[in-house]
Amino acid sequence: MWSTARLIAAGDTVILWLTRELVQHLVVTPGKDFNSKFGHYRHSDLVGLPYGSKLGSRTGRGFIHILRPTPELWTMALPHRTQILYIADISLVVSYLDIRRGSRVIEAGTGSGSFSHSVARSIGPSGHLWSYEFHEARAKKAREEFAQHGMSDIVTLTHQNVCKDGFNLTDAADSVFLDLPAPWDAVEHAKQALRKDRPTRICCFSPCMEQVLRTVSALNDAGFSDITMYETLVRSHDVGQVPVLQSITEVADKLKKGEEVREIKRLRQIAGGQRSHQNPHGEKRKRDEDSEMNEQEDAPVGEAEDSGSGKRLKTDDDMGTWTPSRDVDVSRNLDDPSTHILRAGASIPAAPTAKISVSKATSEVRGHTSYLTFATLLPPMPPAPLEDDAPSQGPQS
Ligand code: SAM
Repeated sequence: MWSTARLIAAGDTVILWLTRELVQHLVVTPGKDFNSKFGHYRHSDLVGLPYGSKLGSRTGRGFIHILRPTPELWTMALPHRTQILYIADISLVVSYLDIRRGSRVIEAGTGSGSFSHSVARSIGPSGHLWSYEFHEARAKKAREEFAQHGMSDIVTLTHQNVCKDGFNLTDAADSVFLDLPAPWDAVEHAKQALRKDRPTRICCFSPCMEQVLRTVSALNDAGFSDITMYETLVRSHDVGQVPVLQSITEVADKLKKGEEVREIKRLRQIAGGQRSHQNPHGEKRKRDEDSEMNEQEDAPVGEAEDSGSGKRLKTDDDMGTWTPSRDVDVSRNLDDPSTHILRAGASIPAAPTAKISVSKATSEVRGHTSYLTFATLLPPMPPAPLEDDAPSQGPQS
């Protein structure tokens, strides 16, 4: 799709990584300048640099990274003409529509082309994407970008209202993706465009539940089955390192001691006829859980793991707590008192500077984009044999 050369050339589209929140694209045009709060650069400075280079500003303050575009980076850097699909939703749609090398896919509308770029990469030159957009200026701009990014052979962009005029295709596509305000009006057209010789899939992307319900009704009426709705939410983790001052054996001893203390407490409660803190199903009361959660959330990095004082080692299931990262291997050398908690399988020598990677998940998950309604269209059943065609039962006596 984009240049695969090792070195940046004039005319290439490149991605400028300024910060994690600030990613831009640029067509390298010698003679032009790029100015930002991260410095001053001439486009000609980029020519001949290997992709991935870090370039210092001409003013001596600031630097930028120059990256080769990928669909993921393009989604971060593209000029927004509409709301767009982001990578969490794109990956789910591509995977659940079973979009792969050689797939024949329909999308409407094209919008800013964010989804189109990921699909084009997945289907490759042996597949095809039919993309529809009824806003003329958006259709024109997207067509120009697709040509600039070498996608013209893979994508056919049509300026058309698909709810009114359909897709001009019959039995052609493996899957359809609708990102429209009224997808239910395009469902019958989508059915016509989908192949009938094998199961095919549709996905409709809608921001509110009323739209989902109308779409589900239309899908049911059109004979789609296996209708399922998903919402993708991203939970971010803050990652940090805290010093580990105890050996595994010490931690294990303290855990054991904590268990014993809890057991003694439990027996005392039973003996004293006190009410248990657990309901008959073994579930903790909400009040207890809430106060525990608050305690964990308040625990600063490095103070949460004091198992000896009755606090427990955290698990990945706990929301909003500091937990050992997945690359921490605590299972090895448990019997060796000189071995501290291991990182990425490598032994860290017994020293007060030993560190453990921890992460804290945000307890609140924000970022609703839309609901994804998937459905399957099965090939029509072969007609039942007529009575005259039924196999003979042999002579009747
Ligand atoms: N999926 C796109 C992306 O990732 O960049 C964004 C699509 S945007 C939210 C929806 C687009 O659908 C708009 O550009 C709008 O003009 C177009 N649209 C709305 N109704 C349409 C229709 N009936 N036929 C074709 N395009 C339509």
